[in-house]
Amino acid sequence: MTHDPKSPVGHNRESRLFYQSRSRRPLIERSEGVYMWDVDGKRYIDASSGAMVSNIGHSDPRVIAAMTKQLEKASFAYRLHFENDAAEDLAIRLADRAPGDLERVFFVSGGSEAVESCIKLARQYALAKGQAQRTKIISRFPSYHGATLGALAITGYTPMHAPFAPMMVDQPKIPAPTCYLDRDDLSDHDRGIKYANMLEAEIIKQGPETVLGFIMEPVGGAATGALVAPDSYYGRIREICDQYGILLIYDEVMTGAGRTGKYFAAEHWGIVPDILAVSKGLAAGYAPLGAMIAPDRIVGPVLDHGGFIHGYTYAGNPLACAAGNGVLDVIEEDNLLENASTNGAALKDELTKMADDFAMIGDVRGKGLLLAIELVKDRDSMEPIDPKHMAAARLVDIAYDMGLIIYWRRTRGGYRGDHVMVCPPMTITKEQFADI
Ligand code: PLP
Repeated sequence: MTHDPKSPVGHNRESRLFYQSRSRRPLIERSEGVYMWDVDGKRYIDASSGAMVSNIGHSDPRVIAAMTKQLEKASFAYRLHFENDAAEDLAIRLADRAPGDLERVFFVSGGSEAVESCIKLARQYALAKGQAQRTKIISRFPSYHGATLGALAITGYTPMHAPFAPMMVDQPKIPAPTCYLDRDDLSDHDRGIKYANMLEAEIIKQGPETVLGFIMEPVGGAATGALVAPDSYYGRIREICDQYGILLIYDEVMTGAGRTGKYFAAEHWGIVPDILAVSKGLAAGYAPLGAMIAPDRIVGPVLDHGGFIHGYTYAGNPLACAAGNGVLDVIEEDNLLENASTNGAALKDELTKMADDFAMIGDVRGKGLLLAIELVKDRDSMEPIDPKHMAAARLVDIAYDMGLIIYWRRTRGGYRGDHVMVCPPMTITKEQFADI
């Protein structure tokens, strides 16, 4: 059938695109701030910032102006032919804001690419140090680190991992500190240490000389539902990695660029990871952008040992980096870190109060504006409402029909939880909570 791309629009229009399934979605007409409108004029409040991406809200004219200015100057400059100011500036600004000695920046186009880059840098660093036997990256279950095969191998998320498991080198996993399922108090120091010590046990089991690194999300994403560990966990993990000479990799793809109320979540616990991945909020949906940030003590030996054997065509893309600079300007001009912290705490309180009226709310957790609600049959057993873990999916659909966008990822497969993510843009006001 011939297809006229100009008409008709919306659901009447045949689509050549495909994503996960055959289901169709309304066609977007425009977006502004925390709101989005479809072509039928229906308004949605974006209470998940897309997939925890649109941190500064939609269609901010300052970012559009920064991107336009870059396009008018030079639309593309390939990194092996030219340096570009947008990438150089953003790298300096990220290095200034990153914890400790993290000062060298490698740009990519998304979260999976950022994580792939961390794996490759860790491996090449081991090679540069003459430790070729280090090949393993320990991660946590559940966790999410990306869809590409390298990132997927270190991901503890059964629905996406299972079909490809036979094609990937199996990487060791330790349990994530899902304290809430055991109704543990997050201030329980011993619990944090107990969970962290599982890393030490795994390192010993694997043989410390074979382990490259340990990767973790400081606050979990959609696979775990904004999982926060007891404070003691973070320091003990750092200690164990130091003790065994293993690189600590922080996956801040979702938490980075302000979502938890600090520019990087590592700052909440005063941790300096060895390598850090950031994406989503970095260009906040205005362009595809991610970055790996690492110290010169790791990057230097790799560059001196045959160079970093890795790279993508769009690395350091001027337009994407101009968007990143524009987003950072907005975060700082509008004091959005403070807003994420204060209004995140206020929104968490509001959601927690809802638990008085809704017995299905088993737990409200998270940091800043990275929040999740656990849906349970009853709070004593913490069993999910639906044995197939589809209550969150149902809630997300009901909310969507009512014009509220919240987020859900399937959690079945060795994981007991069923949760929805509530993560509006950092621009959200207390008055807009009512809409949510
Ligand atoms: N790491 C984390 C913690 C994430 O939350 C995600 C995406 O949700 C990724 C990696 C992969 O990012 P992307 O989907 O941009 O490739």
